[in-house]
Amino acid sequence: MSKTARSSILDLLAAGPVIGDGSLIAVLEKRGYVRAGYWTPEAVVTHPDAVKNLLKEYLWAGADVIQTPSFYSHDGRLNLLNEKGKLVDVTAAQINEAACKMAREVADEGNALVCAGFSPGISFQQNIGEEAARREFESQAKTFKEHEADIDFYLGEFFGYVEELEQCVDVMKTLKKPVACSMKIGAMGDYSGVTLEECAVKMANTGADMIGLNCYFDINTSLKSMKRIKKALDAEGLSPYLMCQPVAWMCPEAENNIKGVHALPEAPLGLDARVMTRFEAHAFARSAYEIGVNYIGGCCGCESHHIRAFAQEVNGDFTQFIFQRQIKLQVR
Ligand SMILES: [Zn+2]
Repeated sequence: MSKTARSSILDLLAAGPVIGDGSLIAVLEKRGYVRAGYWTPEAVVTHPDAVKNLLKEYLWAGADVIQTPSFYSHDGRLNLLNEKGKLVDVTAAQINEAACKMAREVADEGNALVCAGFSPGISFQQNIGEEAARREFESQAKTFKEHEADIDFYLGEFFGYVEELEQCVDVMKTLKKPVACSMKIGAMGDYSGVTLEECAVKMANTGADMIGLNCYFDINTSLKSMKRIKKALDAEGLSPYLMCQPVAWMCPEAENNIKGVHALPEAPLGLDARVMTRFEAHAFARSAYEIGVNYIGGCCGCESHHIRAFAQEVNGDFTQFIFQRQIKLQVR
C-alpha cells in the first residue's frame, strides 16, 4: 500500500513499519520555548510558528504520523504551574484546540496521519481517586472530540503506572478511533511493582490496537524491553501492534534504574554528549523492525535527523515516498 494516501493507521501498520515523529517538549526547551522542569506546551499558543516548524521538520524527515503538540496539556498540570507562581495565560483546552489544528495542517502537507496525544494527569499520583483521574482524561478527550475530524488515532503515553494507563485507554476508547498506549518503563517494570511482562499483557488486554514503550530509556535498553514484551505477549496469544519511541541519549548505566535517563546527574540539561548518532538510529530502526516493532519513533531528545534515519532504514520506497511529497508541494 502506498503511504502517500491518507489512510487508517491500522491499514498502514498492516502494510509495513510506520514512522512516528520526534521529541517535542525537550527540543522546544532547547530552543527557548519551553520551561525546563515544567515541560508544558503553552508555546503552541504563544509561539505557534516555532512549534509548527518543528512538526514540519519531522514530516519532511519522514514521519508518517504527526502527534498533536499536547504533552502535559491538561489543567491539572497547568494549575500546578500557577500555584508555583509560574503563571500560564492559556488553558489546556486552548492549547489542545490549537494543537489539533496545527498537527492537521502540517500532516496534510505530506499526507501524514495525526495522532492526538494523552498524557498522565496529576490525580492518580496524588492518590485523589479513580474518579478524579478519569475526569482529567475526559477533559483532554472533550477538546479532542470537538476536533475529531483532524485526528486519525489516539495515543496515551508516558505512563509509569499501568493502572493509570488502563484508565486512560478506557476514556480513549469512547472516542471511537484506533487507540495506542505506551509506558515509560524498562527492565524494572512499573512504579508499583508490576513487571514489564505483566504490564505488556495488561496493556494488550485493554483492547488497545497498539502498545509499547516510550521515553526514559535509550535505544538498546528499549530494544531489550521490547523483546521481553513480544515474548510475553506471544506466550499469552496476544498480538497487538507494537510501538517503541526511546530517548535520543545513550544511557546504558540507567538500564536497571526505574528513573531511566533521569537517574543520571547530568539530566535533563547536560546530556548532549550522549546523543545517539545517525548510524545508531539506523541500527535501532533495523533491530526494532526485525523483532516485530511496527511503529518506530522518537521521544525526548530525538530530532529530525534521527527520524530521517529511522525512515531511511525501514522504508524501502523512501525515495519515492519523499519524491511524491515534493510533487505535492511543488518544491525543489
Ligand atoms: Zn520523552
